[in-house]
Amino acid sequence: MRKLIIANWKLNPGTEKGAVLLARREDLAGVVIAPPFPYIPAVAKVLKQARLAAQDAFPVSQGAYTGEVSVAQLKSMGVQYVIVGHSERRALGDTDRMVNMKLKAVLGKGLKAVLCIGEPWSVRRRGLTAAKSFVKGQLMKDLKGVRIKKNLIVAYEPVWAIGSGRPDKPNESAVIAEFVKKISGAKILYGGSVTAGNAAQFLGRKEIDGVLVGGASLRPAEFKKIVSSS
Ligand code: PEP
Repeated sequence: MRKLIIANWKLNPGTEKGAVLLARREDLAGVVIAPPFPYIPAVAKVLKQARLAAQDAFPVSQGAYTGEVSVAQLKSMGVQYVIVGHSERRALGDTDRMVNMKLKAVLGKGLKAVLCIGEPWSVRRRGLTAAKSFVKGQLMKDLKGVRIKKNLIVAYEPVWAIGSGRPDKPNESAVIAEFVKKISGAKILYGGSVTAGNAAQFLGRKEIDGVLVGGASLRPAEFKKIVSSS
């Protein structure tokens, strides 16, 4: 079975035209594309095979929340997946409580939630047991009160591996993926410096159901190679 590949474009590219060009080149089966909010309508128009994700969402549907974008609004634009709790959002202030509210809002609207968890290097340097205990703590808080997990996907993204060019060892992330799968009952993705050179090693592990790709998803030729390794 083909594995799930999610492209997280983060705050890229710089123009709508660039986003449309990138989307056309990355419109592949088995792929989910997460563009920045303002490009969602233009990207939605050109996608034929890939599905659409958002990089975040606010838990309240409508009201006096300047600058926020709700799950309901995203759903009305054709978004099917929402990334929640990405470490870059957590670094900007999203607490586990907020991540939990966002997750419930996404699942409550019937969309697929991609919950990102992962430990900092200060934890991982103490070994896999310490990392397991850290991600278990995150899961307990982020999944509090979440009963129906059918649309839940968890992305295990060690914080130190994101955008660093220093991916996890596939056999070690597989150990954590199996652990997280046992606790959450969800599909597990790996994320953190996935490239065309290492994707097959992660995607080849039975414990890992796909990958979340940041930087390399902005390079269409490389991204295509990652997709073809699944
Ligand atoms: C990400 O944005 O979730 C990510 C894993 O980024 P990168 O692939 O650049 O490490």
